[in-house]
Amino acid sequence: MNNQVKTPTEGILNEQLAHNDRAGAKAVVLLSGGLDSATVLAYARSQGYECYCLSLDYHQRHIAELNAAKNIAAVMGAAAHKTAQLDLSLFGGSALTDDAIAVPEKASEGIPITYVPARNTIMLSLSLAWAEVLGAQDIFIGVNALDYSGYPDCRGEYVKAFQAMANLATKSAVEGKTITVHAPLIDMTKAQIVQLGTKLGVDYAMTVSCYQADSQGEACGVCDSCRLRSEGFAAAGLVDPTRYKHQP
Ligand SMILES: [Zn+2]
Repeated sequence: MNNQVKTPTEGILNEQLAHNDRAGAKAVVLLSGGLDSATVLAYARSQGYECYCLSLDYHQRHIAELNAAKNIAAVMGAAAHKTAQLDLSLFGGSALTDDAIAVPEKASEGIPITYVPARNTIMLSLSLAWAEVLGAQDIFIGVNALDYSGYPDCRGEYVKAFQAMANLATKSAVEGKTITVHAPLIDMTKAQIVQLGTKLGVDYAMTVSCYQADSQGEACGVCDSCRLRSEGFAAAGLVDPTRYKHQP
């Protein structure tokens, strides 16, 4: 288990960090305020990118993660941080955007009701628009296809397809400034992600992963996201600094 955990993490740190000819370039980083996106910001910074962080206020159940995003961007040296407003409760259809749908407290079969319809496509589209305005050719997103909840817009083939679309859709790309969508966590386990972030100096106490955290950022300890987070720290052999209402 330990070897499995270490190798890809070391690989990312030692090989990719040493060969980034885009150091100094602007990048848009999607920053939700959770564990994964904070790790991605630290990773992009470690690669030398000037990071423009974007959060989305989609009227999610709680404000704690957006507050976390603001603090993380400030502490981790973002060049700028913007929060776009787009009320997805207009459509609902998810436990995160419809108060009438409860957040499940047990693992479920198939794609869980915490999936927010087309959320990553919406967020990547907003980041693409900002990237084009900034003249940035790099977008970072913290999706992960291993320890995740089965969301279809967290898969590698989805990220590749979005990148292909981005290079067809924008003036800057057809004029030669092609876009790369980076998903550095895509094949990592949650344990590998927290190991990487810890090496890069992420303060995970600042991050909020819980689907139903309270306004102070206290996590429920029973939702899917709390469970994955807690298991990740345990598997990595690291202390989980999360404040849980019920210890998972
Ligand atoms: Zn939770």
